[in-house]
Amino acid sequence: MNALPEAAAARRPTVTLVGAGPGDPELLTVKAVKAIRRASVLLVDDLVSEGVLRYARRSARVVRVGKRGGCSSTPQDFIGRLMLNEALKGERVVRLKGGDPFIFGRGGEEQEHLRAAGVEVEVVNGITAGLAATTSLGAPLTHRDHAHGVIFVTGHARSDGAPLDWPQLAATAAQGFTLVIYMGVAQAAQLEAGLLSGLPAGTPLAIVQHASLPGQRQALSTLGQLQATLEREGLGSPAVIIVGDVLRGLAAASAAASPFSAAAA
Ligand code: SAH
Repeated sequence: MNALPEAAAARRPTVTLVGAGPGDPELLTVKAVKAIRRASVLLVDDLVSEGVLRYARRSARVVRVGKRGGCSSTPQDFIGRLMLNEALKGERVVRLKGGDPFIFGRGGEEQEHLRAAGVEVEVVNGITAGLAATTSLGAPLTHRDHAHGVIFVTGHARSDGAPLDWPQLAATAAQGFTLVIYMGVAQAAQLEAGLLSGLPAGTPLAIVQHASLPGQRQALSTLGQLQATLEREGLGSPAVIIVGDVLRGLAAASAAASPFSAAAA
């Protein structure tokens, strides 16, 4: 049932940016499920899995705004306008974004746009793909024997900005930081060459595609074998690439075919 008109009028126009998590609907937060259930309009990104939408009301209007959604690539200003118009009409608008809305999801830009127009913005965290991918391998991202911390980084350079300085990042990672690289597959050649200037070729690496979904695929390899592994295994987007010694434990756990012991020798 829709909200009463007077209740809608009394509510300030609001959009809720909801993290849909990496794919497995069981990884949604309770807060996310509640927001999806309440929504009368949902704007849904490509990387949001179908299973997550089972929590939406039948009466809700679901608008797919990703590249696979209908429009070849829905421009960001169209999404912004649509969110704004629906919120101003009193609809309960949920913007569903893969993973966490504030990790490489343009959630920040959408929030600024809405707030500038006087719309209230609520944000519900989601489990970001890098966390789900690493956990699915059984690797602790910040195992204290191996890492001081973790760096989430995008391999996708902004067209209007300076490209990422991979050698500099490698030098930082060499101090004991795990790298979790989003959108890195298309840049694998630059990424591999750049990181090799500051990290050994035998540094453990994992590629995880479709983390947390039934079609998840992964490969364990080493930094010097990144491109070769992508090609050999036929892995592609969406995938995260994890680099660092926290993956070494996996070698021990599956000693039979460990790529790390061979590379370290
Ligand atoms: N906000 C999202 C990230 C959006 S950027 C989050 O927090 O997860 C899109 C990139 O995220 C993809 O190119 C890929 O690198 C990664 N990604 C998203 N979902 C993924 C999944 N299920 N498995 C592996 N990588 C994923």
